[in-house]
Amino acid sequence: MRKIIVAGNWKMNKTNKEAVSFLSELKGLVGGINEVETVIGAPFTALSDAVKEVEGSNVKIAAQNMNPNESGAYTGEISPLMLKELGVEYVILGHSERREYYGENNEFINAKVKAALNHGLKPILCVGEKLEEREAGKTEDVVANHVQGGLDGITAEEMKNVVIAYEPVWAIGTGKTATPEQAELVHNFIRLLLIDLYGKEIGEGVTIQYGGSMKPDNAKELISQKNIDGGLIGGASLEAKSFSEIVKAAL
Ligand code: PGA
Repeated sequence: MRKIIVAGNWKMNKTNKEAVSFLSELKGLVGGINEVETVIGAPFTALSDAVKEVEGSNVKIAAQNMNPNESGAYTGEISPLMLKELGVEYVILGHSERREYYGENNEFINAKVKAALNHGLKPILCVGEKLEEREAGKTEDVVANHVQGGLDGITAEEMKNVVIAYEPVWAIGTGKTATPEQAELVHNFIRLLLIDLYGKEIGEGVTIQYGGSMKPDNAKELISQKNIDGGLIGGASLEAKSFSEIVKAAL
């Protein structure tokens, strides 16, 4: 049985106060749901209070990015040590917005995945093709490149703590969701790739989330696909009620 994980990716939204008030509401809405791992990816400024707010509940906190180095002259960056000390559990890495706007490549993302694992943080590695890549028939090539590049040197044992999020770039924030069949084809492709890289037991055990305009009304159909093990949700994670409906749709 794979772990089903529904994670919110708030991106650059919510002040610290707004984050705490959201989490206080969310705890009430998803309290007692232990079959689905509920995670919120908050901005750095809200992480400390967010971790305190969810203490003792079933909600976990993720960071949205991280520098791979422990410390040093990297102005404006946040290290794995800093996240770990706060009690953050997950870290979203390689999001398409980071790849696109901040020039992050596979090599840098791979260094972050390794650093996260070395510090006991669970990486959520984002992979996915752009519209022009899909139209050119390159979806599998791009996804394989992101998966293999991001996981270079990661051992089978370490894979037990890695989550993959398949996020077709053309579906992010556009309202254009991949159909369950379209998404499942790619999820199945990723599954086979993981089995090829790490063997059947480990490959079958990796949680593969779908991301890209997932909402309360399409979540159930997507998550009911064989290889879709939850979601990474942007827009619909900004409101506690709608996010909790996606968590419940994953039950
Ligand atoms: P979206 O974002 O749900 O707003 O499409 C998903 C993501 O970027 O993780």
